[in-house]
Amino acid sequence: MGKSLHGFARRVASSAALGFLWHNRRFRRLGTGPCRIGAMSLAMKIDLHSHTYFSDGLLSPAELVERAVGQKVDVLAITDHDTVLGLAPAQQAITEAQLPIQLISGVEISTSWHEFEIHIVGLGIDANDPVFLQRLATQQQRRIERAQEMARRLTKHQVPDCFEDVLALAHGGAITRTHFARHLVNIGKANSLSGVFKHYLARGKAGYVPNNWIGLSDAIAWIHDAGGIAVLAHPLKYKLNGKWLTRLMQEFSLAKGNAAEVASPQQTPVQKREIWRLCQQFSLVASVGSDFHQPTAWNELGRGLYMTDDIVPVWQAYPQLIVQPESASAVSSHTVG
Ligand code: AMP
Ligand code: MN
Ligand code: MN
Ligand code: MN
Repeated sequence: MGKSLHGFARRVASSAALGFLWHNRRFRRLGTGPCRIGAMSLAMKIDLHSHTYFSDGLLSPAELVERAVGQKVDVLAITDHDTVLGLAPAQQAITEAQLPIQLISGVEISTSWHEFEIHIVGLGIDANDPVFLQRLATQQQRRIERAQEMARRLTKHQVPDCFEDVLALAHGGAITRTHFARHLVNIGKANSLSGVFKHYLARGKAGYVPNNWIGLSDAIAWIHDAGGIAVLAHPLKYKLNGKWLTRLMQEFSLAKGNAAEVASPQQTPVQKREIWRLCQQFSLVASVGSDFHQPTAWNELGRGLYMTDDIVPVWQAYPQLIVQPESASAVSSHTVG
């Protein structure tokens, strides 16, 4: 699928704005209202944002896809932080056990935008593209250097040098602040991950090291070059005020980003409508993702990702993303959840 998307995303990348696509006959046909691909996809349970233990998830790729099948997810994107290491083992597990689930090759790239850290999800990327892999390796190097500095700073706050312990939690994948949080909980410095973030790892706290991630437009270009679709992850998680959120969506669109996550767990219908309104203003389509990291009471794969049927989902605008099973055409549903 990576290859078939490749040329497509290049065309998207080279079009002046996504709005162009809506005026293209082919895509107007795929707009809201009854159309074959929309009806089929809407009957499927789709989750386009999740993590394995190759970044800060707790489950192995095989455990993650098995859990997704248990939750009746039909299509799952694995989107680890700045790495694609989880994709091949996940696909292997699916193939070996003939699991009824489609895997989308994904990634979540950290970027620096003004003073904020903004996450861009790439969907349908070619995970074997050597240029893309080399680019992701530069992000991993930044992660290691940041982690070394974080460990140094934490030693000044009664945390014994923890770099090696934290590295060991990362399974040879992306080393993240979540791994520090897990380690600090393990050694009794806090009771919960959110407690560690609050007291040690959030911006302005002792263990926080500002990182020099790549820029927003660089991440979009990396994703397009690897044949993927660029999605602004969880727009409401950055705690931006209205002015900054609008500016983010606008700049993301001007940099040829394709979609934004409209449906995330715990997001109210009003919040979904607010993001969808901004998507429409800036010619973006809608994605859905649980951002699942580990089993908790408040987050589950594929859960709570409902969208109303006036919202244009990313798989409708980019039908190459999801292979449509013939049998799905008979089912009709107006929500994804
Ligand atoms: P990093 O990419 O290394 O900066 O780590 C960011 C990750 O930390 C995010 O992807 C979240 O999974 C996690 N995270 C950020 N803030 C919090 C928080 N307040 N509580 C729990 N996890 C958080
Ligand atoms: Mn994370
Ligand atoms: Mn994120
Ligand atoms: Mn995520």
